[in-house]
Amino acid sequence: MVSRVIPVEPFDLVIFGATGDLARRKILPGLYRRFCDGQMPAEACIIGAARSEQDSAAWQAQVIEAIETFVPAAKRDATSLNAFCARLAYVAVDAQGERGWADLAARMRADRVQAFYFSVAPSLFGALAERLHHFNIARQDARIVVEKPFGRDLETARALNATLAAHFHETQIYRIDHYLGKETVQNLMAVRFGNTLFEPLWNAQYVDHVQITVAEEVGVGGRGAYYDTSGAMRDMVQNHLMQLLCLTAMEPPARFDPDAVRDEKLKVIRALDPVAPAQIVRGQYQAGVQPAYLVDVENPVSRTESFIAMKLHIANWRWSGTPFYLRTGKRMKARKSEIVIHFKKPPHSIFDADAGGRANVLSIRLQPDEGIDLRVTIKEPGPGGMRLIDVPLDMSFAEALGPEAADVPDAYERLIMDVIRGNQTLFMRGDEVEAAWGWTDPIIAAWEAKGDRPLPYAPGSTGPEEAAIMLHRDGRRWREI
Ligand code: NAP
Repeated sequence: MVSRVIPVEPFDLVIFGATGDLARRKILPGLYRRFCDGQMPAEACIIGAARSEQDSAAWQAQVIEAIETFVPAAKRDATSLNAFCARLAYVAVDAQGERGWADLAARMRADRVQAFYFSVAPSLFGALAERLHHFNIARQDARIVVEKPFGRDLETARALNATLAAHFHETQIYRIDHYLGKETVQNLMAVRFGNTLFEPLWNAQYVDHVQITVAEEVGVGGRGAYYDTSGAMRDMVQNHLMQLLCLTAMEPPARFDPDAVRDEKLKVIRALDPVAPAQIVRGQYQAGVQPAYLVDVENPVSRTESFIAMKLHIANWRWSGTPFYLRTGKRMKARKSEIVIHFKKPPHSIFDADAGGRANVLSIRLQPDEGIDLRVTIKEPGPGGMRLIDVPLDMSFAEALGPEAADVPDAYERLIMDVIRGNQTLFMRGDEVEAAWGWTDPIIAAWEAKGDRPLPYAPGSTGPEEAAIMLHRDGRRWREI
């Protein structure tokens, strides 16, 4: 397979928060990989901005250290690292003050695509937008990339949308959800809308139910204080799982263009039935008598959930009667993200009752091993009569597409290149984010009013037993994690 790398237009990309964790781990290593792939034109310039006083050489040394840490040795070399660093400049800028803005303005060139990545705390998004405008730095066609979390409820999301809208048009705002940059997530659209095979079956008549799982092995790590004010609902369900649900359930857009796709996703969120508390299991990981989550977040009375399993209904013609089960948690048995379509069994079996055979299952794996797997029923080989077994038609990208599949761009690098190209398809629109909060808010409000403790679950497990019971009651089972 030969991958086609199309260089983007010359650009000036300003990374606010250039010394932070996200810039070190994802943004700069990703840009380096794009550079090595020849996607960055010679005139491209990356400008790091943060409060720390330092010169470009000092920042370049930090970037080299980050790339040496986060890009495997086989994928980097001193020559390309030095050439990449020649594209990097640093400006000390205070998002909340006057310092540095004139320097930044002087560095921006008129004939380049302009992009500003807000990789800073969300409380600074408004201040950055205001100053880019006030100091006359951002042109009418400049793009801003806004990190998550985008608000913590409908009210704050609306306020943030209004602040950004005061200075930037919606077509300039790129709200990032890195799940949308994953190869398999885009493949979900290719599989659905690039084949005639699946779409006719993609509805309540043929689909028994859908499971979407995003399980993490890690706990809250160093983000304990932040996570405890957020929880699985705000941190994962409102954005990542909701986006996966939308792409799975949406109607075919007329065109693969940003607003056509986002209009269809929005319709899914708006068609979601409210969820009754009995349809949700909230959990918090604990270890024996030691409540591990509470230790991790240093809050002995925390009632924040680190696990959620829920059953959703989409009230439209396509999905009426087909439940969507969503599940996400920290400190789970394994790291696994997948969307699984469980089809119905054939309406009538012509084989003996004991012949076996299962319903078809299509799974779209996001991690760890991105790929698509379809389980189909065949006859068990051999002379044992007509016995049915199900076998995988497995397309692991790594196997099917060869070694280059391992080189598919990371979600962040793909999304940054989309920003430079001016393609918003894989970014959330303001009304989508608000609709998602509008659906989530009443659930969170009901929990807060009740004040219940989440159910305990052991680290390394699949979550509280009640999550399994929820599916058993419906005569179904969760997929293995
Ligand atoms: P971080 O490690 O705390 O870095 C924050 C950055 O902002 C630093 O470069 C800091 O540098 C700069 N900064 C702070 N105050 C500033 C000011 N007044 N003016 C200019 N720069 C300022 O944060 P992070 O983890 O990289 O996260 C950045 C954003 O990405 C946040 O919105 C976060 O929610 C989001 N995010 C992060 C991750 C992740 O894995 N880290 C994942 C998803 C989303 P100085 O102190 O030198 O100014």
